Amino acid sequence: MTDSLPPFTYHPDPLATGAVEARAAVCACCGKARGFIYVGPVYGGRDLDNALCPWCIADGSAAAKLDASFADPSPLERAGVAEAIVQQVHLRTPGYVSWQQESWLAHCNDACEFHGDATESEVRTASPETKSHWLSEYDQDEEGWAWASQGYKPGGRSDLYKFVCRHCGLVAFGWDAC
Ligand SMILES: [Zn+2]
Ligand SMILES: [Zn+2]
Repeated sequence: MTDSLPPFTYHPDPLATGAVEARAAVCACCGKARGFIYVGPVYGGRDLDNALCPWCIADGSAAAKLDASFADPSPLERAGVAEAIVQQVHLRTPGYVSWQQESWLAHCNDACEFHGDATESEVRTASPETKSHWLSEYDQDEEGWAWASQGYKPGGRSDLYKFVCRHCGLVAFGWDAC
């Protein structure tokens, strides 16, 4: 009944992260029920929550036809990532829900892959590189790391999102505290 999902370079498994769910709903863009619906944030255009199929995100038609976008481009622009990559994440990649505005991480002059909430064990066993990236990205010190990581639970008051650099393999945590 379903096709396999289109590939998303910067959000490789949107089913696992919860951004896409198996649902029989009809897509507001292509008018087809393809078995999957995007349930993450949609910006711009009319109310498109839970109404777009992943194919219309991947091929840019939801962005072109309905003025939809899925992630704030400014963090990637500030990081100096090439405009074509910024646009791909902004307009043709499933986004993710966070407490405040999500902030897509970049490394090695590219956007990172988004892998959803970090697990408790990923946070507990964070490498020195992961931790020092976090300290500098969020201008924090050891105390800040202790606050963010101790008793960490996915989806809790201090959420850490797992990003992976496509070039050097760095695991970088995005952070959002409510
Ligand atoms: Zn569609
Ligand atoms: Zn890197």
